[in-house]
Amino acid sequence: MPTIDLNCPRCKAPYQIEAEMAAHDEQLLDVVVQCRTCNRTLNSFIDINEMMVLDEGASSDSE
Ligand SMILES: [Zn+2]
Repeated sequence: MPTIDLNCPRCKAPYQIEAEMAAHDEQLLDVVVQCRTCNRTLNSFIDINEMMVLDEGASSDSE
């Protein structure tokens, strides 16, 4: 799991982050933030349709 630049308030160890599609809804991202040292775990669901598009990506039929 990738480590993020955010520390656990309990033990000050860096959090790790993991994201996958929610099992019950494929439009939802299931984001888990977890401290590997003390196992403090946070969870949030993000609707993929509510995320901002930063880059539409390359298109083969560009003008
Ligand atoms: Zn911790």
